[in-house]
Amino acid sequence: MEKVIYVDNAATTSVSQSVINAMLPCYTEFYGNPSSVYSVGLEAEKLINEARNLVAQAIDCEPNEVFFTSGGSESDNWAIKGIAKRMLAKGKNHIITTAVEHHAVLHSCQALEREGFNVTYLPVDEYGMISAKQVEDAITEKTSLVTVMYANNEIGTIMPIAEIGEVCRKKGVVFHTDAVQAVGHIHVSFKKDNIDMLSLSAHKFNGPKGVGCLIVKKGVLPNILIDGGAQERGRRAGTENVAGIVGLGVAITEAVKEIDEETKKLTVLRDKLIENITKLPYTRLNGHPTKRLPGNVNISIQGIEGEALLLSLDHVGICASSGSACTSGSLDPSHVLLAIGLPHEIAHGSLRISLGNNNTMEDVDTILKELPIIVERLRAMSPVWEDMMKNNK
Ligand SMILES: *Cc1c(COP(=O)(O)O)cnc(C)c1O
Repeated sequence: MEKVIYVDNAATTSVSQSVINAMLPCYTEFYGNPSSVYSVGLEAEKLINEARNLVAQAIDCEPNEVFFTSGGSESDNWAIKGIAKRMLAKGKNHIITTAVEHHAVLHSCQALEREGFNVTYLPVDEYGMISAKQVEDAITEKTSLVTVMYANNEIGTIMPIAEIGEVCRKKGVVFHTDAVQAVGHIHVSFKKDNIDMLSLSAHKFNGPKGVGCLIVKKGVLPNILIDGGAQERGRRAGTENVAGIVGLGVAITEAVKEIDEETKKLTVLRDKLIENITKLPYTRLNGHPTKRLPGNVNISIQGIEGEALLLSLDHVGICASSGSACTSGSLDPSHVLLAIGLPHEIAHGSLRISLGNNNTMEDVDTILKELPIIVERLRAMSPVWEDMMKNNK
């Protein structure tokens, strides 16, 4: 098989060898139940608490503020539904979020709307950004929670999280951030960014799938989402995913250590891709030109279908992603691209390249060689493109 160029690291990443090495003994040696009293179990409990300390160091919070979950989606659900329901008892039924959140956040908010909660979806500017002022203006005496993502998974825009956190703290509103795309890739400080709850997920920074954290500031008490045993200080039931948690601890430590070096490397690759792909006619960069994730490229290419583009790229061994997610058989354009103001037909033909620590300049050069050929071929067969060219004459 020819070498695959994997540039879909915002979807998931490969697991690093050091992470696998740390995880394996959890299946063979330390297989005990962490809640047991005998030593095989106690060893497992010790490993979990070591991982907890590593997470705390990596994102600047206290170890007892770390709660292990099954990943980013569960953490988002727990934070949002947990605070909304807790604060309803105090007469607060209003939540503020943005139009560009991940579906784990958006669909949690929509579920609450069906139960009678009010949700404000703040509009974003052309770069996918909101301001702290917008949040401040939207807060009422009924507001219990503000949830704003740290960095966008599609277009890479980084939100002004510390400023939004400051506004929320001043107004006495709980602030949650989905930091799944940020942690391990840009510097995140739970304390300095004024965050009350933070979601992270191991598989987005070269850790295993199915494990993540909700970081909860001391004194903040979201209602429990998973009822059962007394694991995680009685706040998240279920026998711990010991190997996953150990892998998460190693992965987050390595990722955070390498942020500066990785940023330097990926920014060069990213900017070369952006500069050259946008030289193709009828293309535009989506997302913020500077306040964006070091590995994110998102470009609309007019006159072609995202799905056709992905299949053609796959044919030459390039794994990328498109702005249009194929859900339940219908091609819905991305809610993020629509929110930044792209018309439907342009939102359909978008390409997301998300670079990771395995990518090289050689990968970039191959993409830049193959992509223009594919774009030209697809446009030559596209009735949409033909119409565009006719109307421009
Ligand atoms: C991937 C992702 C999630 C979901 O995390 P899982 O661990 O896959 O459930 C949530 N939010 C963002 C921004 C993501 O990129």
